[in-house]
Amino acid sequence: MISFEKRIPSLFINGEWREAETGKTVSVNNPATMDVLTEVSYGDAGDTEAAVQAAEQAFPSWSGMTGRERATILYKAYQLLEEEADRIARILTMEQGKPYKEAIGEVHSASSFLLWYAEEASRLYGEWIPSSKKNKRLYVIPQAVGVIGAITPWNFPASMITRKLGPALAAGCTVVLKPASATPLTAIEIIKVLERAGVPKGVVNLVTGNTKAIGETLLQSNSVRLITFTGSTEVGKYLMRESAQHVKKLSLELGGHAPIIVFEDANLEQAAEMTLASKFRNSGQTCICANRLYVQRPVVEAFMEKLTAKASMLKLGNGMEDGTDLGPLIDEAAKKKVIDQLKDATSKGAKVACGGKEWEGALDGNFYPATILTDVTDDMHVMYEETFGPLLPVQVFDEESDVIQKANDSEYGLAAYFFTKNLDRSIRVSEKLEYGIIGVNDVIPATAEAPFGGVKQSGVGKEGGHQGIHEYVEWKYVSMGIE
Ligand code: ADP
Repeated sequence: MISFEKRIPSLFINGEWREAETGKTVSVNNPATMDVLTEVSYGDAGDTEAAVQAAEQAFPSWSGMTGRERATILYKAYQLLEEEADRIARILTMEQGKPYKEAIGEVHSASSFLLWYAEEASRLYGEWIPSSKKNKRLYVIPQAVGVIGAITPWNFPASMITRKLGPALAAGCTVVLKPASATPLTAIEIIKVLERAGVPKGVVNLVTGNTKAIGETLLQSNSVRLITFTGSTEVGKYLMRESAQHVKKLSLELGGHAPIIVFEDANLEQAAEMTLASKFRNSGQTCICANRLYVQRPVVEAFMEKLTAKASMLKLGNGMEDGTDLGPLIDEAAKKKVIDQLKDATSKGAKVACGGKEWEGALDGNFYPATILTDVTDDMHVMYEETFGPLLPVQVFDEESDVIQKANDSEYGLAAYFFTKNLDRSIRVSEKLEYGIIGVNDVIPATAEAPFGGVKQSGVGKEGGHQGIHEYVEWKYVSMGIE
């Protein structure tokens, strides 16, 4: 177990760790036990303004360094994060609840973004355009956008930070980071790693505290040229509206409602294992989690038998204990949403195939068991509202064309998955699904080297891949007349 100081200064502004101007603090809880872990600073508008100013001052020299110089620092940060992975994963589990085995996986994923963008920093190429006029030379140079505001969620408190800060820093941007209120401790650790790696003062700033005031200050500042956000579609729309005032650039990773389809020619064992991994990892609290399952009629019985048998074995508990598969949900509201969707579905005729009852364990956190519903109809909330919890509705289908139409019938478009061993179908269905990310016989598509992002109301922009760094760049076009 890790013990914390009673009070941790959690604002990092211009290279210094500080308390909030007002001296206010806020507690951080362990969602498994509901114990208070520590108090962190409750920053406000004034603190955020100071952070923006520091980032603005640091911008010319940071963006003026070569990509290679920035790469060296990012590479060092990658190494340090790897060295500290075990300790940071423990802190992550303590404040977020996910099982340690998932937390350590997340920290390695977090460091992989630092490594990938350390590599990309040296390869941010411009373009030479062959001119149609003999007396002109045309070229395009990538330049860092400027100060960026990064707002991150609690479901991946480590990797969502590096997935934004890695490319932003590689491109030469400076940053004000506002992590989720539930998970400031992991954010502090990541910023300390960057500090130790030699990121100069003012280049990265951290503000925890009053979400509304911090958000408003970032939005109202003309110096903040880009907002990068991962979270709910509702907050994403708000940020989009408010960014209009200064025409800020936006990179938004928002909600999802991923369909997962099992075709009759799938490897059923693999499909059942992966459906569980997709739906129940992080207790269902990921934006690319399967939210609804479609199974082709000839294999329904065989598949459901495997799936429910495996799901009912998933063990709830404290993420720090070996063997825990499902940690607590982040808060009471998250659990209530699962129960509300379950009640709505059963009142409309759904049957509980597994789970569906309150856990009787000794811990005080907001636990809920893996729950699977059959006899599900499209009018049930769970079929179109994002669940963000361990509840999986299942429908049967007959034709490929019908299931594609059902899968696409969503306001979201983040991730979709299907299982088949038929090559033609793999290509056909991948091309027809209206989603930014497709998993074919795969449910863990997120990786540093590939572009992650949604269509429709799931967001704008990409994170990861060589595309990810382009979010943080303006393409300056130079037209040069010559004699
Ligand atoms: P979730 O809480 O499910 O992660 P949210 O979209 O509510 O989804 O929150 C994601 C992040 O956005 C968190 O850091 C949260 O504090 C922040 N956030 C929520 N509301 C606002 C807001 N009005 N302005 C700025 N940030 C916000």
